[in-house]
Amino acid sequence: MTPPRIFLSPPHMSGRERELVDEVFASNYVAPAGPMIGRFEDAVGGVTGHAHVAAVSSGTAAIHLALRLAGVGAGDEVWTSSLTFIGGVAPILYEKATPVFFDVSPETWTIDVDLLARALDEAAGNGRLPRAVIPVDLYGQSCDLDAILALCARYDVPVIVDSAEAVGTRYKDRHAGKGALFAAYSFNGNKIVTSSGGGALASDDGALIERARMLSQQAREPAAHYEHETYGYNYRLSSLCAAVGVGQLEILSERVARRREIFETYRAALGDLKGIGFMPEAGYGRANRWLSIATLDEEQGAPSPEHLRLALEAENIEARPVWKPMHRQPVFRGARHVGGAVSERLFATGLCLPSGTAMSEADMARIVATIRAQWERRA
Ligand SMILES: *Cc1c(COP(=O)(O)O)cnc(C)c1O
Repeated sequence: MTPPRIFLSPPHMSGRERELVDEVFASNYVAPAGPMIGRFEDAVGGVTGHAHVAAVSSGTAAIHLALRLAGVGAGDEVWTSSLTFIGGVAPILYEKATPVFFDVSPETWTIDVDLLARALDEAAGNGRLPRAVIPVDLYGQSCDLDAILALCARYDVPVIVDSAEAVGTRYKDRHAGKGALFAAYSFNGNKIVTSSGGGALASDDGALIERARMLSQQAREPAAHYEHETYGYNYRLSSLCAAVGVGQLEILSERVARRREIFETYRAALGDLKGIGFMPEAGYGRANRWLSIATLDEEQGAPSPEHLRLALEAENIEARPVWKPMHRQPVFRGARHVGGAVSERLFATGLCLPSGTAMSEADMARIVATIRAQWERRA
């Protein structure tokens, strides 16, 4: 008999979400409007430290609105990290702008600040500065935001942080994404906490968030007859989803603690295996460890990530490769990339292990035993 499936990062409800959804039903705001949306926005701001937050239908929508508000348009360059999920990159294409992909630092797996510094200096010389930079807080590890903000401020380039994976992550003494012009957070079903589907755009600039909210509601001017001076999107979050998100944010700190514990469990149980390594944690922050990632060095005696993934799959355990770098994706063939060897190596050697906070000790033991067996078989 096949054992029950262990998913990579499934939703984990606290129980409170149901009551909050019932409240929405009782109020009849079963719509992308009503008081629960404001409660969700306040809860996000309470966690991230932002005074201004717009709830939207996804993290992708949040990035898109940020690009619109940063004035990104056809022919502009937007610089971002190559090692990421396409949700933060596709909006660059929505605006007909040109993405340029940067390699990551091996110490943080986030955008390489030295490469960025050199490229900005060169671009300023050529008069070809990017219209925006989107650093990514990868797998819940913050980018080195202060260094990036200082560089970009020198050239007056706005920074939009893709903090989709970093709800609950700390950078220095603040939340990940705080301090940039915009931060985008995701509450998709696979993230550390979820609203079923949803996102949030946050900023310290209230006028920008007001504008984002307006664009997310089809850009209606304040007139009863639907007046439009520009066009927008239907990017509003449903109150039902907001209710789930409010319930989840109440227990965020527990979820972060458990994700970190899962990571430490893997490291303690597998760290002695030949050729295995783990995603590093940057000294400047505290990652939420959204996913636990192992790296496998075949030359040092580890199996390949694909071998291990298939061995886990045979036991009905879901594992995934590290994000395939954007500069290697067919859709971005020919796009400019700056460096790239580090992200290519992480793609070739990395494997994301099941990281769901609802996993039992028995689930973890099953995963660990399956992984260890792959080394024993080779010995
Ligand atoms: C999940 C994710 C997004 C997109 O968020 P959605 O809510 O799924 O649209 C963007 N960037 C990164 C890095 C992500 O992991």
